[in-house]
Amino acid sequence: MERSFKEEVEKLKLAEGEVFHGEAILAVTKALLQSGVSYVGGYQGAPVSHLLDVMVQAKDYLDELGVHVEACTSEASAAAMLGASINYPARGAVTWKSIVGTNVAADALSYLASAGVMGGTLIVLGEDYGEGGVVEQERSHRFALKSLMWLLDPRPSLPKIVELVERGFELSEASNTPVMMELRIRACHVQGSFKTRNNRAPAVSTRHKLDGPPKEFIYDRLAHPPATFRQEKLKSDVRLPAARKFIAERRLNEVFPGEESSLGIVIQGGLYNGLMLALQKLGLADAFGATRIPILALNVVYPLVPEEIISFSTEKEAVLVLEEGQPEFIEQEIATLLRRGDVAAKLHGKDCMHMAGDYGVESLVRGLAKFFAAHAPHIDTSPGQRWLSAIERTKQLAAALLGALPARPPTFCTGCPERPVFSAMKLAAQEIGRPHVSMDVGCHCFGSFEPFSQGNTLLGYGMSLASAAGVAPLSSRRPVAIMGDGGFWHNGLLSGVASNLLNKGDGVLVIMKNGYASATGTQELLSSPPEDARMVAIGQSAVDADRTIESTLSGLGVKWLRTVNNYKVGEVARVYKEAMATEYPGLKVIIAEGECQLERQRRLRPQVAKLLSEHKRTIRVKYGVDEDTCTGDHSCIRLSGCPTLTVKDNPDPLRSDPVATVIDGCVGCGLCGENAHAAVLCPSFYRAEVIQNPSLWDRLAGRFL
Ligand code: SF4
Ligand code: SF4
Repeated sequence: MERSFKEEVEKLKLAEGEVFHGEAILAVTKALLQSGVSYVGGYQGAPVSHLLDVMVQAKDYLDELGVHVEACTSEASAAAMLGASINYPARGAVTWKSIVGTNVAADALSYLASAGVMGGTLIVLGEDYGEGGVVEQERSHRFALKSLMWLLDPRPSLPKIVELVERGFELSEASNTPVMMELRIRACHVQGSFKTRNNRAPAVSTRHKLDGPPKEFIYDRLAHPPATFRQEKLKSDVRLPAARKFIAERRLNEVFPGEESSLGIVIQGGLYNGLMLALQKLGLADAFGATRIPILALNVVYPLVPEEIISFSTEKEAVLVLEEGQPEFIEQEIATLLRRGDVAAKLHGKDCMHMAGDYGVESLVRGLAKFFAAHAPHIDTSPGQRWLSAIERTKQLAAALLGALPARPPTFCTGCPERPVFSAMKLAAQEIGRPHVSMDVGCHCFGSFEPFSQGNTLLGYGMSLASAAGVAPLSSRRPVAIMGDGGFWHNGLLSGVASNLLNKGDGVLVIMKNGYASATGTQELLSSPPEDARMVAIGQSAVDADRTIESTLSGLGVKWLRTVNNYKVGEVARVYKEAMATEYPGLKVIIAEGECQLERQRRLRPQVAKLLSEHKRTIRVKYGVDEDTCTGDHSCIRLSGCPTLTVKDNPDPLRSDPVATVIDGCVGCGLCGENAHAAVLCPSFYRAEVIQNPSLWDRLAGRFL
C-alpha cells in the first residue's frame, strides 16, 4: 500500500493524559491498545479499512508491545482468528465491513458464539447501511440475535466510543461471549478528541508466549455436539443474565433527562447525534446536549436490559423508539417487555418513521413532529416545520435554476487498467453479440454503468464465476464472469474456479489483475508485487513482477489460460473472442493484467517530484484530440468513458456538434490511441510528450519539429 499512515501511527503512541484528535475509527485503534489487546485481524472494507491499515503500518511499534496483527484473506479467516480467545485469556479484536463481511464470517461466528470466550473478543463492524452504503441494505443486528452475541452501537462521540471499546472487552469476559460493535459510516468519520491512557502490553503476547495448550482438556470449549447442547443452554441461562448485569451495573446505556417527563425517546446510540440535531431544529434541545424530551440512548442494542426499559417507560404516556431499518427488532422487544411489565405507556416507532433506509435529520424532524402531535400537542413544532419548508424551497429553487441534471454514475479512475477490458468487450460484442456477464465486487463493477452497461448479476465478493454456473448450461452463448484479483483470493478461487473444474463447467472468466484490493483502498494481496518490484522506472508497470494467480490456476488444472496487457485493446478483444469461440469445452481464463492506476500514480508522484526538484528531465505522456479532424460523433467517448475525455464547443462556426477534447487530468494511459486504432475511429487523436527540464537536444528538436 503506497498510502502512508505515519501520522496516525504516531497517535497510537500517545501516553496517559495526552489528547488524541482525529477520526473515530482511529480512536478505536488507540482504544484497542489501551485495552491490552493481544491480537488484531480483519478484512478491509469501508468504513473500517483504516483500522487495519494503521495497525499494519504500525507493525514495528506493535512488535514492541507484543501485539500480533494479521491482514486476513477474508472475514471468515478473521472471525476464525478469534478462536485464540476460547481457551486463553488473550483479548482479540477483528474488523470488517458489514453486512457483507458478517455474512462471510457467519460460520466461524456461530461456532465462536457457541463455544464462548475466555479472553475478551471485540468485532468492529463498519455498518455500511443506508444512504452512502455500498453493499446490500441489511443490518448486523440479526447476527447478534441469532447467535446471542452482544451488539454495541455507541453514541458517536470519541470519548464514548473509546469507553465502549474498553467496556466491550470487559463485557465479553464477564459473560464469556463475543461482542460486536457496529459503527455507521458517519460514526467512523466523526471527528473529535479524547484523553488518552497508556497502552497496555498484553499479558499473553508475542513477547509473553503461552507455554502450551491448556493444562486441563475441557471438552466443553469445543463447539461440537454434545457440548453444543449445553452451550446453547449456557447462552440464555448464564451468559445473557451476566451480560445484562454488567450492562446495568456499568451504566453502558445513558439516560438524558428532560422536563417533558410524560414522553420518552429510546434510540440506538449510533443515531443520537442526528436526534439531537433534529430536536434542535424543533427548538427542543441545545447544542450542548440539554434536551426537553427524556432520552434513553442504547449504547448496547443487544441485549436490552428489561429493568432499564421498564424503569424509563413507567409513568410515561408515550415512548418513541427510533431504530433504523427493518425488521424493527428493538421496538418488537420493547413492546414485549412493556406488555409483560404491565407498563401502560403507548409505544410508537415505525408508525412515525419509515421502515427502510437510514434516519436523516429531516426524516427525524417529521417523525418527532408526528409523535408530539399525538401525545403532546402543547409542544410547538413550528420551528421544525419552518426548517423543513426552507429546505424544500431551496430544493425547488435549485431544481428550477439547474433544470434536469444528467446522471453522473461513478466510474473508473482516470487511466484505470480495467476500463480498456470493457472497451474490448464492447467492441467484440459488435461481432459476436453480448453475452450474459456476471459481475463481482470490486472496481470493475463500474463497468456496469454507462458507457459499458455490462453486468447482469452481482452475487457477492468472489462469486461471479459461481453465479454463472447455473446460466452456462442453459445458454447458447457462453457466459462471462468478471472477477478482481481481490475477489479471486477472497472467495473466487474455491467457490468459483474449483467448483467449475469439479463440474467440468464451460464459460469464460476474466480476472482483473491490478495487483491490489483496490476498491477498499489498495491493500495487499497474495499476488501483489513485492516491494522491490514496485521500484520500477517511470513508464513500466509493477504488476508483471509475479505470476502467482497463473501458477495457482495451472496447479489447479486450468488448461485454457491467457494473460493479456489490458491497454492493448485490439489484443484483449482478439483473445476474448477466441475464448468465446474456442471448441475447448472447459473453463477459459483470461488474466487481464494492468496495475491499479491509483496505486501507480501514488508511487510515481514522489518519484517525479524528486526528479523535478533535482532539475532532472521528466516526460509526461498526454493524449489530445485534433479539433479540426474530430467529426463530433463521440464514438471515442462511448468506447472509453474516461473522465478526462470529454466535449467542448466546436471552434468551427459552421459546425454545431461539440468536439471531443482531452482535459488536463489525462495520465497518458494510451487507451485513447488504442481505442481509435482497434475500433478504426477517426484519426483525430494524437500523443504528446510533455517534457520538463528539457535537455539541449530536446530544445533543438523542439525548435525544428
Ligand atoms: S482504484 Fe485502481 S483499479 Fe480501482 S478504479 Fe481506480 S485505478 Fe481502477
Ligand atoms: S489516454 Fe485517454 S483514456 Fe487514457 S487517461 Fe488520457 S484521456 Fe483518459
